[in-house]
Amino acid sequence: MTKKGLQLEPITSWLKADRPVIISGPCSAETEDQMVATAKQIAATGKVHALRAGIWKPRTRPGQYEGAGEEGLKWLMRAKAETGLPVTTEVANGAHVEACLKAGVDILWVGARTTVNPFSVQEVADALKGVDIPVMVKNPINPDVELWLGALERLNKAGITKMAAIHRGFSSFEKGPFRNAPMWDLAIDLKTRVPELDMICDPSHIAGARDLIALISQKALDLDMAGLMIESHINPDAAWSDAKQQVTPAVLGKIIEELVPRTQTTDNKKFKDTLSILREQIDHLDDEIMQKLAARMKISEKIGQYKKENNVTILQVNRWEEIIQTRIALCKAMGLNEEFTNELLKLIHQESIQLQTKVMNAVTERV
Ligand code: PEP
Ligand code: MN
Repeated sequence: MTKKGLQLEPITSWLKADRPVIISGPCSAETEDQMVATAKQIAATGKVHALRAGIWKPRTRPGQYEGAGEEGLKWLMRAKAETGLPVTTEVANGAHVEACLKAGVDILWVGARTTVNPFSVQEVADALKGVDIPVMVKNPINPDVELWLGALERLNKAGITKMAAIHRGFSSFEKGPFRNAPMWDLAIDLKTRVPELDMICDPSHIAGARDLIALISQKALDLDMAGLMIESHINPDAAWSDAKQQVTPAVLGKIIEELVPRTQTTDNKKFKDTLSILREQIDHLDDEIMQKLAARMKISEKIGQYKKENNVTILQVNRWEEIIQTRIALCKAMGLNEEFTNELLKLIHQESIQLQTKVMNAVTERV
């Protein structure tokens, strides 16, 4: 049991594969031939542990391909029979769950548009009561870790213990280089709150473009994610959904082959010794940083007192601008990232203002 009360089994045990686990398949099952041919080529890479395909597709606008529906489940099960690989698909309501259980689908996933809606997640959870099946939960489309965790909790309460989270990025009004902004810190936040939870990355929906998939996949492994879900199609350009982000099974095989695996630790003695020396240096530097910050805040307080005695405002925009300019120039010269420096200075400044406000308020109270 974790602090949040989640009871979980690791993905390596229920998928019977070593990390990184790889799940692949087309965005959507389109026809029986497309599904089975894609599955066979994917299985032939020898690097994939489960097959995926969307049967019911949540499309942003009506009129786009909305999936094959129950008929497609038969194709998925044929793909399983032909390859021997377990299969997974997205469920968004109780009827989807019933149909998947009847057909014999091995693993289910909850999509990003469902995770945002507690009513839908609860409906899926209720349909799964008393069923022992793995369920993966994609992050909600909006950057809200609580919703993501809430969906996992609802399913866990229904008795689902074979779970994983899927990081597929977040919708954003501002258009960046990705279809869905990865916001890695949110995935790290969930992982920190529930360390036993295995997280797999879906680089296809983060990227929205096939040439970014290798890069994002490697980053996910560098961040200790347990696996990847990558969309693959026999003829990506002709795919009925998400054409731009799908890769052929051959490209998929190459992407997986070129990934550099990472382990949390190693038995190499030299590595361990060097790491512990470097970590000691970090500990020492962190001590120094904290001491300096504390000293800086003490002076801030003194300045607050002095401003109060002279009836001077706390905020002085000119001084603040001067601080930003000089510090950023200095940090840049030392090779520090400008955005990072800016954020750090903002935090320090906010804390300073807060402390000086306390000093001023203490005066007001006495008056
Ligand atoms: C998908 O996996 O094809 C899909 C619809 O993903 P998401 O829920 O992440 O949008
Ligand atoms: Mn897709």
